[in-house]
Amino acid sequence: APVIWWLRRDLRLADNPALAAAVANGTPVIPLFVFDTLDEDLGAAPRLRLGLGLAHLGKVLERLGSRLILRRGPAADVLAQMIAETGAGAVHWTRAYDPQAIARDTDIKDQLKGQGIAAKSFGGHLLFEPWTVETKTGGMYRVYSPYWKSVRDRDVDGLIAAPSRIPAPAQWPASDDLDSWRLAAAMRRGADVVAQYCRVGEDAAQARLAEFLDTRVADYKQDRDFPAVDATSGLSENLAWGEISPRRMWHHGLEARRAGKSGAEHFLKEIVWREFAYHLMFHTPHILTRNWRPEWESFRWSEQENEQVDAWRRGQTGYNFVDAAMRELYVTGKMHNRARMIVASFLTKHMLTHWRIGQQWFEECLVDWDPASNAMGWQWVAGSGPDASPFFRIFNPDGQLEKFDPKGRYQSAWIAEGQANPPQTALDFYRATPLSWELSPQDTRAEPFLDLKAGRARALEAYGQRELPD
Ligand code: FAD
Repeated sequence: APVIWWLRRDLRLADNPALAAAVANGTPVIPLFVFDTLDEDLGAAPRLRLGLGLAHLGKVLERLGSRLILRRGPAADVLAQMIAETGAGAVHWTRAYDPQAIARDTDIKDQLKGQGIAAKSFGGHLLFEPWTVETKTGGMYRVYSPYWKSVRDRDVDGLIAAPSRIPAPAQWPASDDLDSWRLAAAMRRGADVVAQYCRVGEDAAQARLAEFLDTRVADYKQDRDFPAVDATSGLSENLAWGEISPRRMWHHGLEARRAGKSGAEHFLKEIVWREFAYHLMFHTPHILTRNWRPEWESFRWSEQENEQVDAWRRGQTGYNFVDAAMRELYVTGKMHNRARMIVASFLTKHMLTHWRIGQQWFEECLVDWDPASNAMGWQWVAGSGPDASPFFRIFNPDGQLEKFDPKGRYQSAWIAEGQANPPQTALDFYRATPLSWELSPQDTRAEPFLDLKAGRARALEAYGQRELPD
């Protein structure tokens, strides 16, 4: 009987334990992607990026004599239907760790097992399963450094090669046409622009890793905070959709460290920040929706929609670092890590706006959207998260600009106003943004709507008045 390889956020053939085990079964393998009810909640950019990833993988599978079958609907129903149609005897998938996916997958496993179908979930999205990392007293880690120390010397299994062929069934089940899902539609004008900045697929991801480790990792530690420098791996977009395994990044990173490349250790540590985010989401899933530290629930963040929040989203705060970053996000679907921290600090501190508003905008706009890293990132900056930056550390966006964009390259890459010949990146913002925003490169530059000093004082005052235990 065939095995259904149920793909989710693991759009790769190499180092994919769920696929490898399906192929090892020796029977036909049916690759299936279900646009499940949970996927209906995806933001516009993640949805676009998913579509690009699926289109790419479909072609790769065809070259191997296989196919990607696409179906839409509640995963439990679709799987039951597929089993009835194909006579499949097993379903394999790569685990997900957000609470909704866990609940769905647990139900599906029970249901399939009840029908005598071998339902098997595999690791692959993470280096370390969240429940395998424990403190000496048996609890979860709440602080990054001890988490890092406890995992850094662990043995990590070797990589699994991509199968050279994937046995096809005698008859293929019907598939939806990907175009009919209209995954780019929610992007309105931005789809083509954002797509141009994406690097899609497993080969591109592996090339990117090799290029990073050959040419950039040595200076990674010094340069990774400068948003105009191409100093980081850029792999978050591929990791988010499973086009590369964290294990591949880990093993190649270890190799670079052994070869004496100085930034390699730091790169490994960043990969483990992602692991830590998943550890937190698994053990304390409320990090996704509520202040991780309950004492912050009484803090007076505003959740009002208003012109200032819109100005933040649209890159019109009048502060160059914030606006350059928000435009980079809208145009590329990504934002430099330092810039993510600056815009998050500006929103949650100078603007005293709830981090959830920012989290949701990122969820709408990021092609590398990851529920765990996004929630941890926002709560880290806001001060309400585990191992967080203290609330009173308020980034001054202008001071940060002097430090991390001394030559103004980041600003001029993204802010067209006032430039005689703005670069294409800055102009792309006007190709991508909705017409209803009524923006033009000929506009005069937005005036700041708040004073940095006053905003800082107001944030500190709110913090001083909070009812938080020390
Ligand atoms: P590199 O510097 O090359 O790092 C390699 C990998 O390590 C990254 O791909 C990523 O998987 C991991 N990593 C690096 N920094 C972090 C970090 N601070 N937290 C967790 N993992 C990290 N990252 C996402 O992938 N998706 C998100 O939705 C996301 N939202 C964020 C929101 C906020 C407010 C903040 C402050 C950070 C967020 N990050 C998120 C983390 C980080 O900004 C990105 O992972 C990083 O910028 C990706 O670029 P890169 O792949 O070139 O990273």
